[in-house]
Amino acid sequence: MTKRLVVGNWKMNGVTASLGEIAGMDALAGVDLWVAPPFTLVGGAVAVARDGVRIGGQDCHHAVSGAHTGCISAAMLADLGAAFVIVGHSERRSDQGETDAEVRAKVLAARAAGLDVIVCVGESEAQRDAGTAEAVVDGQLGGSLPGTADGLVIAYEPVWAIGTGRTPSSAEVSAMHSFIRTRLLALFGAAGQGIAILYGGSVKPDNAAVLLGQADVGGALVGGASLTAASFLAIAAAANPSPG
Ligand code: PEP
Repeated sequence: MTKRLVVGNWKMNGVTASLGEIAGMDALAGVDLWVAPPFTLVGGAVAVARDGVRIGGQDCHHAVSGAHTGCISAAMLADLGAAFVIVGHSERRSDQGETDAEVRAKVLAARAAGLDVIVCVGESEAQRDAGTAEAVVDGQLGGSLPGTADGLVIAYEPVWAIGTGRTPSSAEVSAMHSFIRTRLLALFGAAGQGIAILYGGSVKPDNAAVLLGQADVGGALVGGASLTAASFLAIAAAANPSPG
């Protein structure tokens, strides 16, 4: 079985004292652990992370440098020792109005800086209720992804499940993940098979095994439950396909 990938997204949480949580995260056999703290903690997190725990950013600008007050480039993240970046999170798509074209430009910038990149997609509750969830995700994939599969990870995050304590049924998760796999194969050919598809949205230690047990779920993108080493590692343990 291929390794699972469990990624923590700290969002706008954490101060210097929180680095102790990252220092306490220990890699598990069978599970890759990645953590995206806020920009202010990326350098510190790189310094304290144990072997096998990769640190990344939650966003990047599409330009390498320039007059973009308050923004951070992929090259700056790489310079701090980051290994990956998350782009297109639904909170950025809604709070900052990011479009698929902007997300795609960020993906290209991240790859040019040598970062792996997690591209987030997912439908709103109204879109799911209207029966357009697959069409929405298809449009996001088509508009956000680059021409090659190298370094890509997809995170399927239904917007209505993020931070709400609600999750899709196992059947809904597996149907969407297999739909995404089909689209990745269409876009990238055989290389689409190697792209991990993470599920994100209210993953907790007590539901991780079921959610990550679905076909084509390669791991999880975890928000709230990634803020402490204890709950993040409990999710990683539940995700482990080959404990011991
Ligand atoms: C997220 O921020 O990507 C996320 C999935 O958050 P939560 O786990 O808190 O729902």
